[in-house]
Amino acid sequence: MSSIAVSSPAESPLLEVRGLTASIEGRQILKGLDLTVRAGEIHAIMGPNGSGKSTLAKVLAGHPSYEVTGGEVLFGGREITSVAADERSREGLFLAFQYPHEIPGVTIQNFLRTAINARREKDIPVLEFRKLLYQKMDLLGMDHGFATRFVNDGFSGGEKKRNEILQMAMLEPRLAVLDETDSGLDIDALRIVSEGVNRIVEAANPTPGVVIITHYNRILNYIRPDVVHVLHDGRIIRSGGRELAEQLEERGYDWLIGA
Ligand code: ADP
Ligand code: MG
Repeated sequence: MSSIAVSSPAESPLLEVRGLTASIEGRQILKGLDLTVRAGEIHAIMGPNGSGKSTLAKVLAGHPSYEVTGGEVLFGGREITSVAADERSREGLFLAFQYPHEIPGVTIQNFLRTAINARREKDIPVLEFRKLLYQKMDLLGMDHGFATRFVNDGFSGGEKKRNEILQMAMLEPRLAVLDETDSGLDIDALRIVSEGVNRIVEAANPTPGVVIITHYNRILNYIRPDVVHVLHDGRIIRSGGRELAEQLEERGYDWLIGA
């Protein structure tokens, strides 16, 4: 554990990003980003391709290829920019990436059990794990047989995303960041994944914060954000309510970027 003082979660927002700048391979991508997410809030981050959305997700996750060059990221009041990715995850930060990895030879249930054990002092008993797993699969309307498949190996786009949502359900994060969870999904898969996120949020206590990163506002018909932000060229250029997503749908990003 780090020696950095942790203030009471009651007084700190779950996530507070201030003036964040970050680069990859010497190229500055995030150029002064501010974002505050409180427990129980759903935020949508929208923006054109290349605006830095996935970079933000990776920097929040602590991906080692990205260098934070300025600003700060507070998670539950604690500065985490120098905290390793696995510790961020243990502290309750969950990231679902745009392009999930395949892990051939590792079943979903073994992967999830390892992930859960990594954040416990003592391993979860097998029967207790099984019970929890099936409870979460039932919550998400998933066939139990899915748990014995290899992680993402030969999965359809929809199955990869459902696997991520199952991970989220099992890990019960304090903050979930979902990067383009909607990309490549047909309308049925999109609805299943969105309903899954909604059910996890409703079932969780305390309610997590959720950040949905998306290019299109389609997913926002299913997951209702409290706040919508527009990211452009490494900065949030506009924040608003749901109506902002609707305006973007009608008028496109050029409307804001040109302004
Ligand atoms: P978004 O998710 O909004 O489409 P990204 O965060 O993926 O945008 O990319 C933002 C910018 O960073 C793009 O211009 C992209 O080309 C650049 N970028 C992303 N990854 C790398 C990398 N590994 N090396 C160099 N540039 C990168
Ligand atoms: Mg992206």
